[in-house]
Amino acid sequence: RGSCHKPEDVIQRYMEEVAAAPDEDCIICMDQLSSPSSYESPSSEDGGQGILPSAVGKFVKCGHTLHMLCMLAMYNNGTKDGSLQCPSCKTIYGEKTGTQPKGKMEIYSIGQSLPGHPDCGTIHIIYSIPPGIQGPEHPNPGQPFTCRGFPRFCFLPDNHKGRKVLELLKVAWMRRLIFTVGTSSTTGEPDTVVWNNIHHKTEMMSNLSGHGYPDPNYLDNVLSELASQGVTEDCLKA
Ligand code: NAD
Ligand code: ZN
Ligand code: ZN
Repeated sequence: RGSCHKPEDVIQRYMEEVAAAPDEDCIICMDQLSSPSSYESPSSEDGGQGILPSAVGKFVKCGHTLHMLCMLAMYNNGTKDGSLQCPSCKTIYGEKTGTQPKGKMEIYSIGQSLPGHPDCGTIHIIYSIPPGIQGPEHPNPGQPFTCRGFPRFCFLPDNHKGRKVLELLKVAWMRRLIFTVGTSSTTGEPDTVVWNNIHHKTEMMSNLSGHGYPDPNYLDNVLSELASQGVTEDCLKA
């Protein structure tokens, strides 16, 4: 899917070239915007012809400016999914996707309620991901990856806000944002499937790990973590 987005087109969809470079530094290369990017203009085969090293672009929504070739290099270093993220303010342009391996997200309900959320019952999410071989989007393509602690069980209160979080988590799952392949910060194991910046509650009736209930701020916190990956209520209306 990434391959149908020409990198230069993605840059030009979300950035406008400015006529005069502002007297500021580029946040990617730290050089002045008035001097050219040190990245080379890609050959036409790379899909980058037309953007010159001197070109300074302005993001259409947030207005931050940087070398267009520096942004192109950052894009080519990532998942190349047709989306951009402003390196200054993290505004997302397009639909950000991640590198979560193939697996299954299942949803059940439990009659028992969570500590801090009495009388509403519980949503039970089960994530299953089997071990496999890393793809080109992973740290060590062609090498195996492991999966520890799967299936992973997660819990949400079955109330209005909890169900909203569930719907957004489904969007995040489809966009491959919930897990990634990397080094576990808990165990130090490399090439393994790890959580990816969207916190989940994996303990239901206790809080021994710090990833349990009660936690009065949890739903708001996870909503803002989802939003910083570009997953917001707008995704549910579309
Ligand atoms: P990690 O250690 O690289 O940490 C990534 C993120 O996950 C961090 O934000 C961290 O705060 C969070 N995190 C750490 N432990 C968590 C937990 N128990 N529940 C929810 N979030 C947690 O991530 P990782 O390696 O994917 O997971 C951390 C550890 O938790 C691993 O050792 C994993 O095997 C274990 N785990 C086990 C189960 C199980 O059902 N047995 C479920 C979840 C996690
Ligand atoms: Zn630059
Ligand atoms: Zn910005």
